[in-house]
Formats: sequence, structure tokens, C-alpha cells
Amino acid sequence: MKVLVINSGSSSIKYKLFRMPGKKYIAKGTIEHIGEKGSAVCDHYAGLKMILGKINSVDVVGHRVVHGAEKFKEPVLIDNQVVRKIRQCCSIAPLHNPANLAGILACKKLLPGTKQVAVFDTAFHQTLPPHAYIYGLPYRYYKRFGIRKYGFHGTSHEYVAHEASRILKKPLKHLKIITCHLGNGCSITAVDRGRSIDTSMGFTPLEGLVMGTRCGDIDPALVTYIMQKDKLDICGIEDMLNKASGLKGISGISNDMRALCAKERSGNKRAALAADIFVYRVKKYIGAYIAVMGKVDAVVFTAGIGQNQQEIRQEICRGIFDALKKKPRLLVIPTDEELMIAHSAFKLMNGR
Ligand code: ADP
Repeated sequence: MKVLVINSGSSSIKYKLFRMPGKKYIAKGTIEHIGEKGSAVCDHYAGLKMILGKINSVDVVGHRVVHGAEKFKEPVLIDNQVVRKIRQCCSIAPLHNPANLAGILACKKLLPGTKQVAVFDTAFHQTLPPHAYIYGLPYRYYKRFGIRKYGFHGTSHEYVAHEASRILKKPLKHLKIITCHLGNGCSITAVDRGRSIDTSMGFTPLEGLVMGTRCGDIDPALVTYIMQKDKLDICGIEDMLNKASGLKGISGISNDMRALCAKERSGNKRAALAADIFVYRVKKYIGAYIAVMGKVDAVVFTAGIGQNQQEIRQEICRGIFDALKKKPRLLVIPTDEELMIAHSAFKLMNGR
């Protein structure tokens, strides 16, 4: 079965074609600058038409959808009702869901008879218990506006947790794992016997760790304080917290951890500070998740920083497990969200 995985963003579409079952992709590519001035690709329909022109045949399409709110707890076959529900989630994921939906609608038109599956970044975290996902806000905001922790990067956390179980040769249901997805966006998840029980990102992907350009956890009172002091409007503060903070904001140099480590080696203090803050926040989350799970069998590192930067992994792990009777296995596992989506779509089509 040929599964085409589509990751449709606001101005780009990434695709990978897999022959399932099996782990190897047979084609991949990216269409960029969609809808931008002077671009040959005016919209997602045109972009997908180009992609399909390069591919002989497709049996099923798997779409990455960022936000499924509480409506989707697992991958689903896309029909009109699913499209309606994904559209309803656009208000809480305005940067992502409309673009994901554009990809789905274009595929529906271009491949009318082909089954399509939606796989949600939030679905893996739908097993969080209420004490982990309800904020200390008036409860009515949860009931009226769906304000709660949702968590993201779910496909990645689920994939590496499964891989860890395979490597350790133990079923997931017997393992307690902490998965650290450390890329430009960063999140950590406590996976207790295969279920996500807490995760660092929240209602949006801004909460939690210090990231490339996102601030992660801050005192919420700072939002209005900075708005007043720096005369920022809502767009201005959102931009600052999402795009000008994190490693980039602290260092004043770059959001790229490789660049910061190089600067640190040549004596740059702000680069060193940014890296120290990054490491410290990851340590705190790992410690918290050991506390909530009672023990940890494995800590998994993945994504750009997690997979490639040994010095950062070493700093994170330094001294952190000293008090534990049984030390966890430390694993570096390359993530593969596209393969996980292909696998989920394949499983759904085969009724498993
Ligand atoms: P994204 O969240 O955009 O997918 P990545 O997973 O590619 O991000 O991670 C990007 C981060 O990983 C950057 O801080 C980068 O410096 C760091 N990194 C370190 N080594 C590498 C590498 N070999 N390849 C890619 N990113 C790397």
C-alpha cells in the first residue's frame, strides 16, 4: 500500500511517499513559497497538483493536523464531519489548522476516490489526566472556550516511545519513559506505560521549555507589564513571545543552538547564558516527570538538538539521576513523524 504523507503549512507543503508496511520512503520533497508574491504556486491546490504530478499512484493520504482539541483522540478517516471539526479547531490554532485544512481540501478535490486520514499532534496527549491539563484559572474558561493544556509534538513523542520500547525489548506497558523533543520547538513528555500523562507544551506550543525563539514558561503577569512598558499591542506581544524570545532573545545572537555553542566556546557570555538556561529548564522538567511517575526506565532525546548535540545532552543529564536507585537508560532516537503518520494511516486502513 502506498501512503502519501502530507504536512501542509501556511506557505509550504512537505510530502513523503511510503510503501507500507515497511519503513523506507520512496519519494519526498517540499513545495515552498505558496501564495507568496511572485511565486509560481498560487495556493495549496496548485502545490498539491505539482506533488501529485511527480507521483504515479497513491492508495491513501495521511495528513498531519496540528490541533484536534478534545475532538480527536486518535487518527481518523476524513469525511465531511471530520473536516467540520478540524475547521472548528482553527480558532485555537490559527497559524496551523487552516493550512492543514487547505491541504486536506485540495487532496479531496485532486484525489476524489482516495481515502484520507488525519493524524493529530495533540491526540497522543489526550490521555493526560485533568489534574495535569486544567490550568489554575476559573473553570468556566475550560467549559466555555476549551482552555486547557493540549500538548503538541505528539506524533514525535509517540514514535520515539515506541522505538525505545523496541530497543529496550520490553513492551511499552511495562515502561516509564521521558521523551525530550529538542529542536527549534521543544517539548518533554512523561510517557507512563505507553500513555502521555504530562507534557510541557500547553494550550499553545508556547508553554514549557525555552525554545529557539519561544519563551516557554514565564510569569503570566509579565504579558501585561511588558505591553505597558514597551507599548506593545496584542500582535506585538505575541510576536515577541513567539519569535523574538528563547535562545534568540536571551543571546541576542541566534536561535540556533549550534551557533550558540560555537560562540560559547569562543567566550561569548550571553551565548553561554542562553545555553545554560535551556539546559536548566530541561533538567527541571525531567525532574518533575520523574517525580510524577515515581521512576523512569529511559530518557529519550530526539530532534535537532536532542539527536545531534552531545554536549547539551551531557549537561542536561549531569547529576540529575544521582539520587535514583535504578538509573534510566539514555537513548538518542531520531524522530520520524512522517513515518508515524504513514504507520497510523496504514493501521487505520487495515482495521488495526
Ligand atoms: P525544527 O523544530 O525546526 O524541526 P530541528 O529539529 O531541525 O528544528 O532542530 C533545530 C535545532 O537543532 C537548532 O537549534 C540547531 O542548531 C540544532 N542542531 C544541532 N545539530 C544539528 C544538526 N546536525 N542538524 C540540524 N539541527 C541541528
